[in-house]
Amino acid sequence: MKERGTIQGRGRSRTQRLGQHFLAGRGIAGRIVDSLGELAGCHVLEIGPGRGALTGLLAERAARLSALELDSRLAAAAAAGFESNERVEIVHIDALHFDIAAWARSVAPLLPVVVGNIPYSITNDLLHKLIAAHRELGAVVLMLQQEVARKVTAPAGGKPYGMISVLCAYHARAEYLFTVGRGNFVPPPKVDSAVIRLDFNSPPRSKAADYTVFDYLVRCLFDQRRKQVQKVLRKGSRFSIDADDIDRIARRSGVRLTRRPEELAVDDFVRLADVLATWESKA
Ligand code: SAH
Repeated sequence: MKERGTIQGRGRSRTQRLGQHFLAGRGIAGRIVDSLGELAGCHVLEIGPGRGALTGLLAERAARLSALELDSRLAAAAAAGFESNERVEIVHIDALHFDIAAWARSVAPLLPVVVGNIPYSITNDLLHKLIAAHRELGAVVLMLQQEVARKVTAPAGGKPYGMISVLCAYHARAEYLFTVGRGNFVPPPKVDSAVIRLDFNSPPRSKAADYTVFDYLVRCLFDQRRKQVQKVLRKGSRFSIDADDIDRIARRSGVRLTRRPEELAVDDFVRLADVLATWESKA
């Protein structure tokens, strides 16, 4: 079994490279698994089972369990441990190379849910993969670095609020569940962690008329989050809107464009994107 070259780093231990901080004690693991709710009708996908802190509990409660582990030794040990349980499958793979949307479609009539105490190095990419698979997924419960958990669940206006907050709030109900101090892990990481839940089945927001425009707008604006929205729209983007039109767009969308992107709520981005979508088609 081979490890992926992208994850390998010279001079760093396997533990560091793969973000291996194992949960000690069963209390936190139990709380994480409880956060998924009833699992009898679910096929659970676990990212990074490691030594199985969550895996055993998940196997007891879920109809089926697939666990993706990149470390060949841990994958082999977990596979041996669950050999006699035909409802559990351990896959030795980089979770970032696993097609989550296709997996989720394939598990019907079971409900696909995702859980993991995931390494920092893959957090951002994994969140984007999960968002991309939002139509297929039910609940997602993840343990992340606390700082990232705060970003994912941040309300508009504060410092942690950014692109990932807007995209998560658009597609899911995003909740910060609880903080997990660094002392709960072996070896302890340098920072604290937190558990979040994303519920893709009950997104609370209105939908953009053209998602591509919304997504592009959010990315463009947060690339320059310190600038007023009107300045970002005017130049340096494909919007290239002239000054007169800026006023009209502000009036029609009801969004004050002298504000900064970090001050706009998700619904503001949606209304602005909807106006821009028709603006483009007129050009
Ligand atoms: N869930 C366990 C282990 C958490 S440590 C616990 O809570 O104790 C993170 C785990 O993710 C490690 O087992 C690590 O080997 C695995 N991992 C790291 N990168 C991964 C990737 N890209 N794909 C799948 N697993 C990965």
